[in-house]
Amino acid sequence: MRKPLVAGNWKMNLDRRAGVELAGAVRSHLDGLQGVDSVIYPPFVYIEEVARACAGTALVVGGQNICDQEVGAFTGEVSGAMLRDVGATVVLVGHSERRHVYGETDELCALKVRRGLASGLDVCLCIGETLEQREAGQTEQVCSTQLHGSLNGLSTEDMAKVTIAYEPVWAIGTGETASPEQAGAAHAYVRGVLSGIFNQAVADATRILYGGSVKPSNAADLLSVPDIDGALVGGAALTAENFLPILDAAAEVCVR
Ligand code: PEP
Repeated sequence: MRKPLVAGNWKMNLDRRAGVELAGAVRSHLDGLQGVDSVIYPPFVYIEEVARACAGTALVVGGQNICDQEVGAFTGEVSGAMLRDVGATVVLVGHSERRHVYGETDELCALKVRRGLASGLDVCLCIGETLEQREAGQTEQVCSTQLHGSLNGLSTEDMAKVTIAYEPVWAIGTGETASPEQAGAAHAYVRGVLSGIFNQAVADATRILYGGSVKPSNAADLLSVPDIDGALVGGAALTAENFLPILDAAAEVCVR
């Protein structure tokens, strides 16, 4: 039984006041919903205040990135312990903007996954192919390489703390969405790879989120696909007007 999860990645958007206000709206809405989990990922500097606003509620707060190292001379980086210290309980690893704008490799993602888990954080690992790779028929190969590259060697206990977000790069922030068929096929494939790396029980238990221009108008169609266990939302996570209906859609259609 996989409980649906709707996550909002704020990226480098909103300010302190807008962030706390939005978190308050999501928190109150989530209070009235059954059967859906939610996480918000504010910019680092707002995590503490947003986490305080969400304390004691079901709304989870996470970090958008983590340093692969534990502590020391790593200017500009933020450690897992620091994320925990300010109230984050989960971290995104390998978001497409980290991979494609900042050049993060599978090797670095693997270190970050391990560092997150060692710090006591849950991890949401993002994977997905570029448009060029999809057009070259490499979607499955890319997803497999990214999953093996980042997850090999983890234990089945570790995997209880890991969520996967399948986010085709060509659909992120573009308004272009994978069709439910395209997303469903990729999710089924990803689940098969998890079964190969670990076992069927891990594959069955791991939540696989879809990300890429999810919005109120397409959320229900995507979330009703059997292997899609929720959404990682960027642009539409920045207003309550757009994010709350996606939570509603998950609560309604995504019962596994
Ligand atoms: C994302 O940032 O993970 C994302 C999916 O963005 P958007 O919803 O804007 O495409």
